[in-house]
Amino acid sequence: MNVEKLENVTKVYEGSVKTVALKEINLAIEEGEFLAILGPSGSGKSTLLSILGVLDRPSKGKVYIYEKDITLLSDSEISKIRNEYIGFVFQNFNLIPRLSILQNVELPLVARGVPKKKREEIALASLKLVGLDGLASKKPSELSGGQQQRVAIARALAQNPKIILADEPTGNLDSFNAKIVMDIFKRVNEELKTTIVVVTHDKEVASYARRRIYIKDGKIVGEES
Ligand code: ADP
Ligand code: ADP
Repeated sequence: MNVEKLENVTKVYEGSVKTVALKEINLAIEEGEFLAILGPSGSGKSTLLSILGVLDRPSKGKVYIYEKDITLLSDSEISKIRNEYIGFVFQNFNLIPRLSILQNVELPLVARGVPKKKREEIALASLKLVGLDGLASKKPSELSGGQQQRVAIARALAQNPKIILADEPTGNLDSFNAKIVMDIFKRVNEELKTTIVVVTHDKEVASYARRRIYIKDGKIVGEES
């Protein structure tokens, strides 16, 4: 079963200069995959991730999530699908400084209306998966960069997503912490069967994935497993 499928997806940014960021991309992502997307700066990686994350619509082509064509849905229906299926991890962690680690991980559950006691239970279990349940009451600024990224992964896991999309998740980490973070993605993929898609410049990081696709000038130019 495909978690996601892109069919002839083209993305054009209109403006004073028109940029064709993606050209007729065809990509099927199977349930349980661990996929890396590699390519030089400006090749369309972030655009591809925002289409996969249904944060943006293609200019042309179709996007299927579990075989449902989402390009036909309204914005609010698309938001619902995003919240239900997709977890995001960013290069800059995106944690809220004034909230505790536990509260940061609870945040997506607050949006879903999960009661407080249940939220805390899920958030603590998610923090345990990344080995940080002992730091639940700390603030983000009291943690190292590597620890903050693990909190961001726990926050994504708390919503029990089908797919986690990570944009340069190790971009701000040294190689030691990058390895810890990638080992966590690997474990989440193997044990929870969560589909993982990582955008990276880094060959070492990409080596954790079971399939790698290369993109250049908005096109898929290579693939290896
Ligand atoms: P990458 O993530 O590989 O660096 P991007 O997807 O960010 O590539 O960008 C692909 C191309 O689209 C680039 O030429 C970039 O300048 C352009 N682009 C990206 N986002 C926008 C935008 N919001 N408006 C206009 N052009 C954009
Ligand atoms: P990265 O290198 O991490 O992919 P980028 O520098 O490509 O990041 O893009 C950072 C942000 O700026 C993204 O949200 C992207 O959509 C936007 N962006 C990139 N290029 C352009 C552009 N030419 N015009 C407007 N926005 C852009």
